[in-house]
Amino acid sequence: MEDLTLRPQTLDEYVGQTRLKEKLRVYLQAAKARGEPLDHMLLFGPPGLGKTTLAHVIANELGVNIRVTSGPAIEKPGDLAAILTNSLEEGDILFIDEIHRLSRTAEEHLYPAMEDFKIDIVLGQGPAARTLRLELPRFTLIGATTRPGLISSPLRSRFGIIEHLEFYTPEELAEGVARDARLLGLEIEHEAALEIGRRARGTMRIAKRLFRRVRDFAEVAGDPRVTLERAREALDALGLDALGLDARDRKILETILTRFAGGPVGLETLATALSEDPQTLEEVHEPFLIQLGLIKRTPRGRVATERAYRHLGLPVPEGERG
Ligand code: ADP
Repeated sequence: MEDLTLRPQTLDEYVGQTRLKEKLRVYLQAAKARGEPLDHMLLFGPPGLGKTTLAHVIANELGVNIRVTSGPAIEKPGDLAAILTNSLEEGDILFIDEIHRLSRTAEEHLYPAMEDFKIDIVLGQGPAARTLRLELPRFTLIGATTRPGLISSPLRSRFGIIEHLEFYTPEELAEGVARDARLLGLEIEHEAALEIGRRARGTMRIAKRLFRRVRDFAEVAGDPRVTLERAREALDALGLDALGLDARDRKILETILTRFAGGPVGLETLATALSEDPQTLEEVHEPFLIQLGLIKRTPRGRVATERAYRHLGLPVPEGERG
């Protein structure tokens, strides 16, 4: 379970994402100076990088309320109307996670809400149906998505700010871990935090989760502080290798290398071979394997790199050497 008290509250406490934070500071200051709500903002990036957290930080920095929902939770236009008319005040933030999963009709109702702060609701059915136009407070929509390619262009064009979150460096992840340790009153060696950072797939959520497991090991062993040795022992026990790949990641690589001769192999074919859902493969596993330079996406499918062969300790075929 996530401990909400550990969540960063301000931009200063929010680790990393330096370029994005610099820009945000400008946007926040400008909106405040004008006394206007912040422009609608679309955040994209793989799960666990801190999109939801950032939306909360922004609300806190602006001193406004935030209402959190998700694309799949808004089934009908009426659901959207209920959220927009019941709970928002001028300047408040509506956060829609997985906004690429909004239904078509809900999305169409969102356009006038975003543009003109109006929403049409239809009362009754058939020939007697009437449309009622409601005025909304001027709010800020923050949409988050792991799949920017699935955002329709009419929706995308209604966001004034479009930004992506980046994978964290091991040092940044270590900073996030050290911060949680401090708040929990636990001492951790810098090298131990860095080791967690190195094996956390560039993802803050994973770093923090690994830290909680390492903490369990340290506490059970009665350590007064978390050492590098204890961190390594715990991480090894969790089945994470030196690059932070877990058994599933290694299985993906191994399948591309051995069953498909290094690729190219199409996403669907690969997913079937792994009994995995293609979307999970594409959104959860692939981005980091790509980031590490272990696989590449090509027009003909996924291809493993020389580094993948080396990482799994397999001989590099002649053609792959470069
Ligand atoms: P996303 O919405 O992108 O899936 P979350 O915002 O839920 O990710 O973040 C996952 C976890 O990592 C949360 O526990 C959050 O508090 C923590 N976290 C994310 N980004 C940061 C950051 N930049 N600094 C500190 N903690 C962070």
